[in-house]
Amino acid sequence: MQLDWLLQPLLAQLNTGVLVLNDQHQIVFFNQFIARRADKRLEHTQGQLVYDVFDDLPRAWLQRKLDGVLSLQAPAFSSWEQRQYILKLPHLRPLSSDSLYMAQNCTMLPLTAPDGVSHYVCMLIEDATDAYVYQLQLQQSMAQLELANRTDGLTGVYNRRYWQQQLGYEVARAVRYQHSLALLLFDLDKFKQLNDQYGHQGGDAVLVELSAVIGALLRDTDLLGRYGGEEFGVVLPETDLQGAVLVANRICKAVAEHQLLFNGQTLNVTVSIGVSSYKGQTADELIQQADMALYNAKRQGRNRVVAWQEPAEVYLKQVK
Ligand code: GH3
Ligand code: MG
Ligand code: MG
Repeated sequence: MQLDWLLQPLLAQLNTGVLVLNDQHQIVFFNQFIARRADKRLEHTQGQLVYDVFDDLPRAWLQRKLDGVLSLQAPAFSSWEQRQYILKLPHLRPLSSDSLYMAQNCTMLPLTAPDGVSHYVCMLIEDATDAYVYQLQLQQSMAQLELANRTDGLTGVYNRRYWQQQLGYEVARAVRYQHSLALLLFDLDKFKQLNDQYGHQGGDAVLVELSAVIGALLRDTDLLGRYGGEEFGVVLPETDLQGAVLVANRICKAVAEHQLLFNGQTLNVTVSIGVSSYKGQTADELIQQADMALYNAKRQGRNRVVAWQEPAEVYLKQVK
């Protein structure tokens, strides 16, 4: 039965690309879906190698796939998740997607002509741009959520939960690789006074600006987090006590010298910093020790750095 009257309009209307190649990978047929989007005419390209007609085909990959389908006489499938597209066709959506090209699912079917000896591959190209764009948007939302989930809303540095989690990881790394690790805890001096004098907004502006000033003094691998109201912590991976005290002094000096402008007035702020370093303690113990050192820095007059010392040493000194 001659079915051209049925197949012609069906292939023309089909919302799927149909591309038929012979066993030499030469073009035998493609339907209007492909002709329109690729801006090519079948009668101009018939008999040409598919690689010469369509730009930027993944040649080696496609050759292997087509030869596999022909030799095994079994279908093959490629999804947009594995390979975003095979034919570089524009998608027809007026949307802001990262890619100008249509994401595609492609099924490759082995076909045999009625003569029984001529073999072909029929490639069915389905537009999967919607799924691709949804996945992209989902990934962007997830990334934004992840960022919000680890960031302090006011200052933009890590929030306490995330910072403490990272400290835990760094302690585990220090244990495993025998790396040094140090911790700074710092607290703004007389901040209540500053709030009283310039209002909560003035205080907030100071927190935001100092976070940026201090962040700029640190290495990419250092972790700055907001531990509480006007108390911050810095995890310094692969840094010993001596190195940490240097960093702490640099922060202390930079803050004291920084001229903060708020409503046309210059504010002067200082910080007190406690330092502890890893010698087998847990993350909580490191925090406690830095906190005790910070307390001593406050007691000794503020605007200074104090490193935590082994109480055993102090005790021994007292006994002697
Ligand atoms: P010290 O030198 O002993 O640390 O004195 P201090 O006044 O800074 O100490 P204290 O911890 O008693 O006071 C901290 C103040 O920080 C109290 C609180 O109102 C203020 N504060 C905490 N969080 C914020 C915040 O997010 N914004 C502002 N503006 N102030 C805050
Ligand atoms: Mg304070
Ligand atoms: Mg405080």
